[in-house]
Amino acid sequence: MTIDDAPRDALRGGPRELLRWVATGAAVSRADLSRLSGLSPSTVSQRVEALISQGLLEEAGAGRSRGGRRPRQLAVPTGSAVVGAIDLGAHHARVGALDLSGRVVQARTLPVRIEDGPEAVLGALLAEVATLVGGDPAAGDGVVTGGSAPGALRGVGIGIPGPVQHSTGRIVSPSRMPGWNGFDVAAFCASRVDVPVVVDNDANLMALGAHRTAHSELDHAVYIKAGTGIGSGVISSGRLHRGAQGSAGDISHCRVVADPAPPCTCGNAGCLEAVASGAALVTALREQGVPVSDLTGVIRLIDDGDRQATALARQAGRAVGEILAVVVNFFNPQVVAIGGRLADCEPLLASMRATLYERCLPLATQTLLIERVAAGQDVGITGAAHLVIDHVVAAA
Ligand SMILES: [Zn+2]
Repeated sequence: MTIDDAPRDALRGGPRELLRWVATGAAVSRADLSRLSGLSPSTVSQRVEALISQGLLEEAGAGRSRGGRRPRQLAVPTGSAVVGAIDLGAHHARVGALDLSGRVVQARTLPVRIEDGPEAVLGALLAEVATLVGGDPAAGDGVVTGGSAPGALRGVGIGIPGPVQHSTGRIVSPSRMPGWNGFDVAAFCASRVDVPVVVDNDANLMALGAHRTAHSELDHAVYIKAGTGIGSGVISSGRLHRGAQGSAGDISHCRVVADPAPPCTCGNAGCLEAVASGAALVTALREQGVPVSDLTGVIRLIDDGDRQATALARQAGRAVGEILAVVVNFFNPQVVAIGGRLADCEPLLASMRATLYERCLPLATQTLLIERVAAGQDVGITGAAHLVIDHVVAAA
């Protein structure tokens, strides 16, 4: 059982790159792959045959001839639910079955009580994965079997709303996840399924899903996930950048200017998460005597133009903009995109954007795209599926 991410596919024309060119339509034949990669036709053929024998590519009829025999066309098998994905949130989880191109075949949103603990929550979600990929729901035990036969499950990707140590798949000091600290998600899930399991934090999976869906031509991107918590995922040179332990992009405990500085779950005060997360907005509104119970209520108040809620959203946007300005000056991305439930909150977005322009070097913002993540509620499971697909291809 492999828990780790795919190793680097450093060579141009590596299996992952060949597959990506076919999946995106950049190449439809071996000749196209040879031209794009600069590899010899025989090397491309060898790699393509290996991918076909693993069921990761298929022949899709004959293409147009440019004289001589018509070339056989290549395609990524689509339509079969062969990748399981779970995007766990504070109150809900999106669970999906996707095909090898990363397209959603089936997906459902389930209510989750994170305080029920990891075994109960993950056990129920894995059972749902089994149902969606056509396992035996009557068994009810969440055990899923896999393999490389057509239609068999290839792997499961899981996003966790807290810090995940990348090398082990273990959760480390999460906020708002009582009973989950130190839990080995990868090992637990590996005991329930006999396919590779990859685990990452939810912001990284959103970044990967959004990048592959909308920005795969851009090499440097930062994705902010602003929901109950707040985090970010970084794409550098076209790849998810995790850093040494997997905590790269975790901006939740960066300090921002706030007076008074609200206490944070980490023990410090004035962290971005304590000022600008959905949970922080709920707390701040309650302290001002507004009877609001959750983030949905906060968003409704902001949409209705409520004065207190709107002021807090602007303050949150400034705080996100301050941190993001440091990130943009330091990292010089081509795009900054914001996703999560607060992404549609206009006052937050407007003040984030203004702060970013005010605090960044002109060279860094000259051509910078600032936008919303467009991929919707399936962006997390799409990222999880791509993590699995990358792993499977590298292993093949
Ligand atoms: Zn903190």
